[in-house]
Amino acid sequence: MSVLTQASPSTVVPHAAATPRPSACPGLLRIVAARDGGICRIKLPGGELSADQARVVADASARHAAGVIELTNRANLQVRGVRSGHEAALIAELVDAGLGPTPRRTTDAADSSSTAAVSAADDVRNVMISPAAGRDPFALIDTTPLCAGLLTLLQGESRFAALSPKFALLLDGGERLASIDHPHDVWFAATESHDGVRFVFGLAGCPPAGVCGQANASEFANAPSSTHAVTGVQNATHQSRVDATGALAAILPSQVAALVRALLHTFLDLAPADTTRMRHLLAMHDVDALLQHAQRYVEFPLSRDATFAEWRRSTPADPALRLGAHAQRVSGTWHAGGQPPLGRLDAAMLQGLAALAQQHGNGTLRATPWQSVLLPDIPTHALPAALAGLNALGLACDPAHPIARLIACAGSSGCAKSLADTKADALQLAALLPANVDVHLSGCARSCAAAHCAPYTLLAAAPGRYDLYRRDGRPGFGQCVAHQLTIAQAADMLDHLSRSDTDA
Ligand code: SF4
Repeated sequence: MSVLTQASPSTVVPHAAATPRPSACPGLLRIVAARDGGICRIKLPGGELSADQARVVADASARHAAGVIELTNRANLQVRGVRSGHEAALIAELVDAGLGPTPRRTTDAADSSSTAAVSAADDVRNVMISPAAGRDPFALIDTTPLCAGLLTLLQGESRFAALSPKFALLLDGGERLASIDHPHDVWFAATESHDGVRFVFGLAGCPPAGVCGQANASEFANAPSSTHAVTGVQNATHQSRVDATGALAAILPSQVAALVRALLHTFLDLAPADTTRMRHLLAMHDVDALLQHAQRYVEFPLSRDATFAEWRRSTPADPALRLGAHAQRVSGTWHAGGQPPLGRLDAAMLQGLAALAQQHGNGTLRATPWQSVLLPDIPTHALPAALAGLNALGLACDPAHPIARLIACAGSSGCAKSLADTKADALQLAALLPANVDVHLSGCARSCAAAHCAPYTLLAAAPGRYDLYRRDGRPGFGQCVAHQLTIAQAADMLDHLSRSDTDA
């Protein structure tokens, strides 16, 4: 008999515990039901996973779930297909491997160890850094110690348990391998000043780099798939871009944690209970008022500095560096990366990656926000073997490989909202995909798989049928250029469009 109870229409938790927190987002303790079984999300600090932890995840996913391990666009892992009755055992094995949150320091032992407290500490662990942080030759500062400090801060104050599981921070160290096009509630970006590195910061957006990247539709939509829904997504996305603040001021690296704390308390002081994201708060209060409120929590002067209003990131980000071999800051060391088909690993692949990390790297893996895997700290002599190993496991190491140019959400095999089997259709499209074309297949307008607007989006309209959107600078998926295409028709249309783009 199952030891689980149905806590909400979509959430199951261990029987012994109260519902950790009411949320539809999967977490380590909050296994959310999907069409293909439960989903358990494992948050990785800075995207890092040790080889030993990878083996635990691989074994546990085979023993307690369907053996499918997904990389997410927040550089986390999630185990899919968790079997009914296996949830508590899966959670226990993952927590024992050190994959859970850090217990909060409190005099109230009962509070710190309660399921709700642990679940809340898990939920707030949302700090994004480059998978090459500390190693990228273009980085102005190593953000890994700052990231660790912020994660400790987020988990350490009981009040922060009230934050939404989606509330997220970005720490950009100036790396070339960087994901800077996914809006975050608070973002920091390293910049050089005459007397050292500073962090500029902003709210509800991303570090501006020329044109700030397209927003993720899933951030703003909870709508069924339809043309009308897409219009709603576009409107909501547009609103978000209006709300984003740009760079507000610059602070010392040593002031980042204090400012985060001040902004989180400000958010919780001012946000009504149903307000979950910074962009919502910015719709109610102007940014100067928020900074004025935050001033009471920090000892350094805090106000908008017009000097930074036009600040732009100086180094172009290049996600292609996630694949293949690239030199690190320390001479003679490299990181090597590969893209598993549609961001999914099986237990054997994860075991294989753990072995590669131990044989050729530093014994750790990095999940990336592009649903790929990076092996850091490989010496030059071991590089050929590491790349051969990634290829042998079925990971694409060449950005030109079709698998590296396709992303797809769970689709109808895993999600009841999907109008098509996006995963299977994407694999069919891989064999037909024209060169230099990147495509996102989405089962509905929520766009779960993409943290950015892809050049082309196939939005499911019916099983095996898609509407094709082309990115054109407008928010959302862009312009709809064709309706109800089969995969073969979509491949032909993509070929035609990419040729006309090239000829233009
Ligand atoms: S984008 Fe895909 S996975 Fe996300 S809700 Fe829609 S159909 Fe489901």
